[in-house]
Amino acid sequence: MSLSSSVDVAIIGAGAAGLGAAHALRDSGLSSIVLEARDRAGGRGHTIMATPEITFDLGCGWLHSAVQNAFVGIAGQLGFEIDKTLPPWRERAWGKAFPQEERADFIRSLDEFFQRVHDAAKSGRDGAASLYLEKGNRWNPMIDAISTYINGAETDRVSILDFDAYEDSNRNWRIRRGYGALMAAYGATLPVAFNCVVTLIDHSARRLRIETSLGSLVADKVIVTVPTNLIAQGAIRFHPALPDKVGAAAHLPLGLADKVMLALDEADALPKDGNLRGATMRTEMGTFHLRPFGQPCIEGFFGGRYAQALEDEGDGAIAAASIDEIVAFLGNDFRRKLKPLKESRWAHDPFARGSYSHALPGHAGKRAVLAAPVDGRLFFAGEATSANFFSTAHGAHDSGERAAREVLGAMAEG
Ligand SMILES: Cc1cc2nc3c(=O)[nH]c(=O)nc-3n(C[C@H](O)[C@H](O)[C@H](O)COP(=O)(O)OP(=O)(O)OC[C@H]3O[C@@H](n4cnc5c(N)ncnc54)[C@H](O)[C@@H]3O)c2cc1C
Repeated sequence: MSLSSSVDVAIIGAGAAGLGAAHALRDSGLSSIVLEARDRAGGRGHTIMATPEITFDLGCGWLHSAVQNAFVGIAGQLGFEIDKTLPPWRERAWGKAFPQEERADFIRSLDEFFQRVHDAAKSGRDGAASLYLEKGNRWNPMIDAISTYINGAETDRVSILDFDAYEDSNRNWRIRRGYGALMAAYGATLPVAFNCVVTLIDHSARRLRIETSLGSLVADKVIVTVPTNLIAQGAIRFHPALPDKVGAAAHLPLGLADKVMLALDEADALPKDGNLRGATMRTEMGTFHLRPFGQPCIEGFFGGRYAQALEDEGDGAIAAASIDEIVAFLGNDFRRKLKPLKESRWAHDPFARGSYSHALPGHAGKRAVLAAPVDGRLFFAGEATSANFFSTAHGAHDSGERAAREVLGAMAEG
């Protein structure tokens, strides 16, 4: 779609937040456009066919808090099948790599850690989650690994107040054709300008001027939904500068989670939707989803500093590390059965620069700072602005709807 020179509302980013905002404004009578740097909608929701028979969500895959998740209803409307198979986490690890008794001991330590964090958060004083690891507990490195999956960061980088604010109904479903595919379909009927990289929002005059790689346009209101790392690193600039927003974004950095898809020969030997994880006693470990949806493959998940180090090694490093780890658990025979298909590199993605946000210790309040409108004209959405569903796709979607309501409220005030 070509860029018009003037709109009522410009929405920056066609991820879950931007799409949620655009849908909410659709019947408002206002003209709007979504400005998207990529050539596709969905942002950190991105489904590919790793082979003609293997669907792979490079970004979000789980409909977390499924009973409160707007994408469940959207999937129903758009005819996307929902899979309610239980996720292969916690107790559901498979095989000898993590014997039942050891697993139970680990889960106990993990839950006790979560409880200590929850109890400490009641005081209202913030601090690093790592302070609540039990001294000398042998599972601490693996608890840190779990933190990298949940937060994208180790416990020393995670605020306890923020961690405790996250709401989870513990219902986790999936979209058979992919969460990213659902988002792309949800965005298909919206006015989106693709390959449109926004570089500057000038709010010095009555109307806002937006500079993009496709030229500039003016708007009465702008909703910014880009990931925090882009705001913090000045990929999008504001004139006059907005130091509170940039500061808030810097204290809500995107942690890192990466996924890899490996094709699996003789797949029937492994259980469908199983989990493979070892008692590695290391933070530098992956967790493996065996045969997701029964497909002939293994999906690996890596987080935090380890994921960053693997990404920095270059394309293929995550697959190589995964194969080594799986072979160590299941035996040498598996080396010939596994073939790398695709891996994500979210830290190196110029329009994401990470995976999902966490608040640094002492900065749980920054989500509200980032979310606050400026001057009744500039509005902020995106997963990092969600008070309780941050780091998720549904949280991002709902934040977009919230920003759209703020726009309509500001329009009504005149
Ligand atoms: C590996 C991984 C696994 C995940 N797993 C889950 C999960 O299972 N469940 C879950 O709920 N969530 C999960 N998430 C998180 C979820 O994907 C995100 O929280 C959510 O998609 C963020 O949506 P958003 O709209 O806030 O941001 P984004 O999706 O990042 O959208 C922002 C958009 O802005 C665009 N943009 C950036 N810069 C510019 C610019 N200068 N000009 C114009 N456009 C720009 C981007 O291209 C992007 O499309 C996962 C994420 C990753 C990476």
